[in-house]
Amino acid sequence: MEFASQICPSGPAVPWPRRLEQRLSSPETIQIRGWCPSTWKPMQAQDGWIVRVRPRCASLSAAQWLVLAELSRTHASGQIELTRLGNLQLRGVHESALPALRAALVASRLAPADEQTDLAPAVHCTPFYARGDRTHALALALCVAAARDLTPLALQQQDIPALPGKFDMLVDDPQCHLQSLSSDLQLWACADGRYGLALGQSADWYGFESAPAAVQAAIRIALWFARERSAQAAGRLRALAKPIDLQACGLTGASHHLEPRTPDNTASRPLRPGALNPHGLLLGAPLGRLDAWAIQKLAALMPEQAEIRVTPWKSLLLPNKHLDSLPARLDSWDWIRQSTDVRLRVSACTGAPNCPQAHIPAQSMALRFASSQAADRHLHISGCAKLCALPSDATNVVFASQDTAGQIWLHASPAEAQPSAQASIPYRPLDSDPHDIQQQLNDLQL
Ligand code: SF4
Repeated sequence: MEFASQICPSGPAVPWPRRLEQRLSSPETIQIRGWCPSTWKPMQAQDGWIVRVRPRCASLSAAQWLVLAELSRTHASGQIELTRLGNLQLRGVHESALPALRAALVASRLAPADEQTDLAPAVHCTPFYARGDRTHALALALCVAAARDLTPLALQQQDIPALPGKFDMLVDDPQCHLQSLSSDLQLWACADGRYGLALGQSADWYGFESAPAAVQAAIRIALWFARERSAQAAGRLRALAKPIDLQACGLTGASHHLEPRTPDNTASRPLRPGALNPHGLLLGAPLGRLDAWAIQKLAALMPEQAEIRVTPWKSLLLPNKHLDSLPARLDSWDWIRQSTDVRLRVSACTGAPNCPQAHIPAQSMALRFASSQAADRHLHISGCAKLCALPSDATNVVFASQDTAGQIWLHASPAEAQPSAQASIPYRPLDSDPHDIQQQLNDLQL
């Protein structure tokens, strides 16, 4: 049955928007900003300013979490958003509150004291390391080098254009749990004592005998990219058509490997909350958002200097030594403690009313659809065709668009479907009747 043509006889033929150029062929203009907010460079949204905190080495102390929760309640929406690569976001900040918020973040070492360091490329880090081990040392060294050599000012002094706002680097653990994440450069401490460096998620990689050599190569690649990209306007390293200059990037002295980074190919799958691992317990944030009160309650139960790390899977890592009876004292409304929690089967962008481009309340829809999703599926709901925060493990997507007559449409498709596999229906607000929810899912062929 040609579902789309029956439900939507003259409806918008919106191609599946997995790739940017396909998204741009949707009936609406989508605003792509091409940079990420930070503390010193917040981003304006419909509901106020978005201020992003980048946890150093994926770690905040309980005392810092208490400060962040308090700032979220006093200056922002009262929620803390966890981003796809383990950053923390406050939104709904009034312009007049920005200076006080920034000062408080700097004072509690949640943000750099100078703008240039804040504008250096992000260095994401695996949460799976022990303080002082090779992974931790590598991440610290890369942070220092990026803040010294890759700030807009440092590049300007060498007559090199600034790196694009989305350029980032990542330090992984020896098991390469973060391998599937999208970042420009990935470094890790190999189990055999060497250090690995890969361009994004490339299958091949380069081996170095020391951490300084790997860090230096990463910086040289970033500098080479900053120089070369200006001719092509490439925003990400992978988008640069020119092959990498091994000499200029310091890769000629490294060993080149075509074999997988680790023998265990399953290690790079997203880790679910609930499972204990050698480093602690993962606690999930429903739809990637944490209530400030819930954070406050959690952090207050722990010693001030206890670490609570952020994972790239919208969860927090609680260290084993502070677990004891902790999970039993946490409200299941605020936290996902089991891998079987149906809320793990859905995700959503910010959606209406807080995003100006949104046509639907994506988050509340996602929660209503959650219990109807099979355990092996993941449904992402998006307020428009831009698909912000689309998780890599999504199996189905529903996004909204508006036609020239003002009608809002919902479009659904399997994540890797060809355009012919999609379904489109006119949008109508969901009520809480389970039959209505199921009917809409049926109409969307989900
Ligand atoms: S995908 Fe969602 S958050 Fe992103 S612009 Fe569209 S409505 Fe806004």
